[in-house]
Amino acid sequence: MDLAFTPEEQAFREEIRTWVRANLPQDIAHKVRNDLHLTRDDMQRWAKILGSKGWLGYGWPTEFGGPGWTAVQKHLFEEECALACTPRIVPFGPVMVAPVIMAYGTPEQHKRFLPGIASGEVWWSQGYSEPGSGSDLASVKTRAERVGDKYIVNGQKTWTTLGQYGEWIFCLVRTSNEGKPQTGISFLLVDMKSPGVTVRPIKLLDGGHEVNEVFFDNVEVPADQLIGEENKGWTYAKHLLSHERTNIADVNRAKRELERVKRIAKAEGVWEDQRFRDQIALLEVDVIALEMLVLRVLSAMKSGKNPLDIAGLLKIKGSEIQQRYSELMMLAAGPYALPYIQEAMEAGYQGDFPGGVLGNAPLASTYFNMRKTTIYGGSNEVQRNIVAQTVLG
Ligand SMILES: Cc1cc2nc3c(=O)[nH]c(=O)nc-3n(C[C@H](O)[C@H](O)[C@H](O)COP(=O)(O)OP(=O)(O)OC[C@H]3O[C@@H](n4cnc5c(N)ncnc54)[C@H](O)[C@@H]3O)c2cc1C
Repeated sequence: MDLAFTPEEQAFREEIRTWVRANLPQDIAHKVRNDLHLTRDDMQRWAKILGSKGWLGYGWPTEFGGPGWTAVQKHLFEEECALACTPRIVPFGPVMVAPVIMAYGTPEQHKRFLPGIASGEVWWSQGYSEPGSGSDLASVKTRAERVGDKYIVNGQKTWTTLGQYGEWIFCLVRTSNEGKPQTGISFLLVDMKSPGVTVRPIKLLDGGHEVNEVFFDNVEVPADQLIGEENKGWTYAKHLLSHERTNIADVNRAKRELERVKRIAKAEGVWEDQRFRDQIALLEVDVIALEMLVLRVLSAMKSGKNPLDIAGLLKIKGSEIQQRYSELMMLAAGPYALPYIQEAMEAGYQGDFPGGVLGNAPLASTYFNMRKTTIYGGSNEVQRNIVAQTVLG
């Protein structure tokens, strides 16, 4: 197993680094570096910059307008973006629904939907979870009834991330109650501007508005917005989830944030505390172990071997690490992590604290926000069940 990058891969990394640093707006990088609130405009501005270079769909094959990069090149791109403090790509369009449309959509659907995703023009949301159908996703109840050349959709989705900005939503809908629950699900693309779609905010513990409820009241959806075959949606849904879980691991951001923990600990004086440094060391060991796991998978892919199906494992470790670094940052800043003033954070408030210019004010809200990581994308308890079945046998 060779974990080192080749000279060609190193040159590729340099090319990405140069371009990202030259094209990333500095106001956006500043917000990401200090965990300040990103607006819709910030996220979409960066998405469109990537889109204009053909890199928003950085995992796409060339036949669909992507760069056709290898797994290693994708990894290097993600790492350089994280190190430069770009916003994370909002995954619902380019990372989640696009691969499903490519794999199971018709040529007309490719032409209709993929360009808007690749350019960053169209904002997508994910409509999987419902009240009572999260871990037990196959029990979804939102009903789509075929009437002529349309589906009439009634029901509710929940926890829809950034659904307040959504223009389109991909939904798992029930089209049949026959047989096992999995066999009666279909995968439908819904225009969120359609009459009968209502989006309501859910306010979270950190005070922010990130997730929503989405209601469907007799929403008419043209039948040509069904992906693949009716009642086969469960297969397509699983295809998408493996992309979501690998994406959530985000080892590159963890490496960047580990350095930030150290900076804050030094500025706040707790670096001198041996016990605190032990906690940072334990975190560093886990981050390195996660990186080694990712590199092992890449190495296996390079040599044509079939890597273990470890999307669930990456999700568990990655999300736990995200929670730990946000907790250590908050502990390091102590009371200075506490102020939660939405307007001040949005205005880029950096605090006037001992230790200088470090922006510690958002740390407590980031800590609260990161509690989500072991729940979304399939809870870690459920991931452990899946890993036990698929990896351990
Ligand atoms: C911030 C956030 C953003 C989200 N964004 C989206 C989104 O954009 N679109 C979307 O569709 N969904 C989204 N989700 C929903 C997410 O996928 C679900 O919350 C998740 O799958 C868990 O489902 P649930 O909340 O219904 O919890 P439940 O399934 O009710 O689980 C409750 C608890 O029971 C445990 N549990 C359940 N079943 C088992 C089992 N078999 N064995 C062991 N333990 C079990 C779970 O681990 C959990 O601790 C988001 C969630 C959050 C928190």
